[in-house]
Amino acid sequence: MEPRILIMGPQGAGKGTQSRRIADEYGVEHVTTGGALRANKQKDISHLGLEYDTPGAYMEAGELVPDAVVDAIVEAALDEADGFVLDGYPRNADQAAALDGMTDLDVVLVLDISRETSVERLTGRRVDPETGENYHVEFDVPDDEVVRERLVQREDDTREAVETRLDVFEDETAPVIDRYRDHEGYVEVDGEQSPDGVWADIRTAIDERAKGS
Ligand code: ADP
Ligand code: ADP
Repeated sequence: MEPRILIMGPQGAGKGTQSRRIADEYGVEHVTTGGALRANKQKDISHLGLEYDTPGAYMEAGELVPDAVVDAIVEAALDEADGFVLDGYPRNADQAAALDGMTDLDVVLVLDISRETSVERLTGRRVDPETGENYHVEFDVPDDEVVRERLVQREDDTREAVETRLDVFEDETAPVIDRYRDHEGYVEVDGEQSPDGVWADIRTAIDERAKGS
């Protein structure tokens, strides 16, 4: 069986960047709630009788999309995957409890960075709309001029929206990370290193923990 990996850390920690490498190297599915929700921004969820009628409205406000919507996305994706790297979920205690009921995990990776680094990385993040690949205006500029010119900034990567998301992370998601500290696959990685430095630590951690699975 392929490894089942959870990757956590604040906004800008490098979860998306490193998850792509993990998916390529280990042949697992990259399951990302942010990506899935962006593809379903306009989906009508008015039948749930919540604050807003679409996932996109929560995302633009920097708030979490309701658990009922996100739990269903993750459960369907994990059901189909033989091995995965789960990125962007769980973000609160109820989602963590829901995940417990869906699957076991072999590796729980936590990328640590400061709040200052988060803000710097997110406000400089640019996305290739064709491939979904993330770049950075300073730290990761694409070599290909065609790609360079088509890069866009995510609507929620403005300073204000980033600060709101970091507050939500500290209030709701940081306590979830604490909950995994006793998990046998738990490992913290210094996310302030270069992307290659972070990747080297991640590979070692996965190879040690996923052996025999
Ligand atoms: P997350 O998915 O955790 O929010 P991303 O992988 O999207 O983070 O990375 C956020 C931004 O920081 C992107 O612009 C990315 O190019 C850049 N980045 C990612 N890892 C590093 C790193 N180790 N050093 C410098 N910049 C990085
Ligand atoms: P970031 O990690 O920078 O906030 P993501 O791409 O992971 O960005 O998520 C974008 C938005 O999608 C979040 O601000 C939130 O509104 C929504 N979202 C993603 N994952 C979840 C989740 N597990 N629970 C609730 N909302 C989520």
